[in-house]
Amino acid sequence: MQAKLRAAVLRPLSIVCLGLVGLGAQAHEPGAHVHGAAVLRVVVDGNTLNAELESPLDNILGYEHAPGTPQEQQAVKLAVAALRKPGGILQPTPAAQCTLQKVSLASAALTPAMLGGAGPATPPSPNEPAGHADLDGDFSWQCAKPEFLHSLRVDLFLAFPRLHKMQVEVAGPKGQSAATLTESHRTVQW
Ligand SMILES: [Zn+2]
Repeated sequence: MQAKLRAAVLRPLSIVCLGLVGLGAQAHEPGAHVHGAAVLRVVVDGNTLNAELESPLDNILGYEHAPGTPQEQQAVKLAVAALRKPGGILQPTPAAQCTLQKVSLASAALTPAMLGGAGPATPPSPNEPAGHADLDGDFSWQCAKPEFLHSLRVDLFLAFPRLHKMQVEVAGPKGQSAATLTESHRTVQW
C-alpha cells in the first residue's frame, strides 16, 4: 500500500519535470526520464570502480515496451551484447589496468533472461511516466593500479546514437564532482 501511494505521488512529479525540461528550464530532478539524456553515477573506492547507468530505454532500443517484432528482439540482443562487452562502452584510464568484474542490467520492459543475466540487485525505479521505461545498468571493475585511475571514457554515445547528453556524478578520492558529457566530449575526469 505504502509503495503504491508513493508511486502515485511521484508519477505526476516526473511528468511536470519533463515539461520543465521541454521549456528549457535548467534545474531538473536528477534521473528524470528525458529521451536523449541519461545519468551515470561513478564511485571510486580504493581499487574498485563502479558506474551506475540510468537511461530511458528509448535511448538504447528506440522503443520502451516489451519487444514484439523480430527487429525489436534483435535490437535487444545487439544492445545487451554492447552493454556487456568488456572494454566496450565504458573505458577506465588504461594505465589503471581495470578489469570489468560485473555487469548487471535491469528494465521494467525486459525480462532478466532478455538482459542476459540474473535479476538486478535493485529493482528498476517504478516512477517513470506512464508508457515509459528505463534501462538501469550497474558496472564494476577491479583495478590493478588504482593510483593511475582518474578518468572514464563513455562510448555509449557511439553504440547508442539516440543518446546525446549524459549527466555524470563522480564520488572519487578527491571528493564529489559533476560533468556533462556529449558525443564530442566523452571523457569524465577526476
Ligand atoms: Zn520514455
